[in-house]
Amino acid sequence: MEKAIKDKIRDTRAGFTDAQAGSAEQMRCQVRNNCLKNAHRTFEQGIQCVQVNSVNALVSIQDSVMIIHSPYGCSACGSLGSIERVNIYKHHKGDESRLSSRIISTALGEKEVILGGEQRLEDTAREAIARHNPKIMFILSSCASAIIGDDIDTVADRLREEYPDVVFVVVHCEGFKSRNHATGYDLALFALQNYVIKDACPKKLKGLINLFATHSLSFADQQEMKRMLHAIGLEANIMPYNATYEDIMRIPAAEYNISVCQIFGDEYMAFLKERYGASYVVTGMPIGSDSTDRWLRAIAELAGKEKEAEAFIAHERAEVEEEISEIKKKTSGLKVCVTAGTGRGFAAATLMGEFEMRLLCIHTPYYEHAYVADFERLEEYHGGKFLINVADMQPYEQINLIKKFNPDVFIGMANWVSRLGIPTTHILDGKRPTFGYRGVLYLGRKIEDALDNNNFNAKLKNFTAPPFRESWYKEDAFKYIEFPEN
Ligand code: SF4
Repeated sequence: MEKAIKDKIRDTRAGFTDAQAGSAEQMRCQVRNNCLKNAHRTFEQGIQCVQVNSVNALVSIQDSVMIIHSPYGCSACGSLGSIERVNIYKHHKGDESRLSSRIISTALGEKEVILGGEQRLEDTAREAIARHNPKIMFILSSCASAIIGDDIDTVADRLREEYPDVVFVVVHCEGFKSRNHATGYDLALFALQNYVIKDACPKKLKGLINLFATHSLSFADQQEMKRMLHAIGLEANIMPYNATYEDIMRIPAAEYNISVCQIFGDEYMAFLKERYGASYVVTGMPIGSDSTDRWLRAIAELAGKEKEAEAFIAHERAEVEEEISEIKKKTSGLKVCVTAGTGRGFAAATLMGEFEMRLLCIHTPYYEHAYVADFERLEEYHGGKFLINVADMQPYEQINLIKKFNPDVFIGMANWVSRLGIPTTHILDGKRPTFGYRGVLYLGRKIEDALDNNNFNAKLKNFTAPPFRESWYKEDAFKYIEFPEN
């Protein structure tokens, strides 16, 4: 089958690196002079799998079943984190009637790895259709099925003939395909185009905007973005989280496209511009007042809604101004370290700047040319001295640095940092409202809570062993990074 969009990986984007470290100003200069090279870690604790993000992007699509053609382990992340999020999302939406999303593993074992697993996949698909009667069936590859060379496309072709009413969507998202896990999002969106939308070219719908949003958004945050877009006269088609088949088919009818952050959907939006003429913009996440201003203004400029956006921004900012001033009394001057994914990391560090906190260090999974402007913006709040640790899940580096920096507060997933006794909180909240102007207050209060009551972390420090031996904290955090010569 001729695909409308060919699979591509993010590792080949200009200036891509997933192993680097240096001050913001030093890395900015290197990127601007095209001489920031990827370093090499001689030891890694792990990196996130591409497949997990394909699962995350597609798992909530309604009336679908997902088959992961893999050993059991590959579906563990999906079946734990992703389904939990879907269930919470549905509960908040008031939808208790639907079953949770269905992820089925073909559970490849020794026998299939030696003799091939195509028959197992076919049998699993038939059983899944008999049990769940889906509209869409996703078939995802894994490292094991790709290495043994199972032809999942041909299996899908056979199934298409047998079940003409089911849309079979094949996603080649084996973990070793890319070191950038956001590739998994791209592959999922490309697959929706290639297998669901195909050549459909519906009439444009006035004021319709596709809003590409990741799985990590709460229902409250989706509603907040919808509200903001509605306020400037646009109707959001939120994709692909919890989308229906009909929502997917509306993608080409939209006049505009926007994503929730820098790494989600930009490759697909470029395709939509080329194929359907829908203009798009890549912006940061609308977390914090300044980032929300930028997000809204970018959309408004696209759609010619600048006047509406300015009126909305002025009104919303005025509503939260007083309480933000109160929060600042507690946060102003505090030192902070941030660990987060690309989009959330920029938004979190920007918000810390708004709260007049000083950024010491940010752990971010990737650096590439496209993010230079975002890092430069952070320099406007925090100066150019803060450390950028480009690390996709290397907690041993993170904890070494946090211990040395000893910040007043840590923002990020804090399991290990909590054991250092430092106040911690995070802005990745799949349950509560964190987006837009109202989200600023919720996040500010969260930080206040972490500062006011650090008893739990203090006790953890006193009554648990540190995650690493004392000797590790005396080492250079980047001991296992081989930096290239410039
Ligand atoms: S697809 Fe590969 S990298 Fe991903 S969980 Fe499975 S084995 Fe690990």
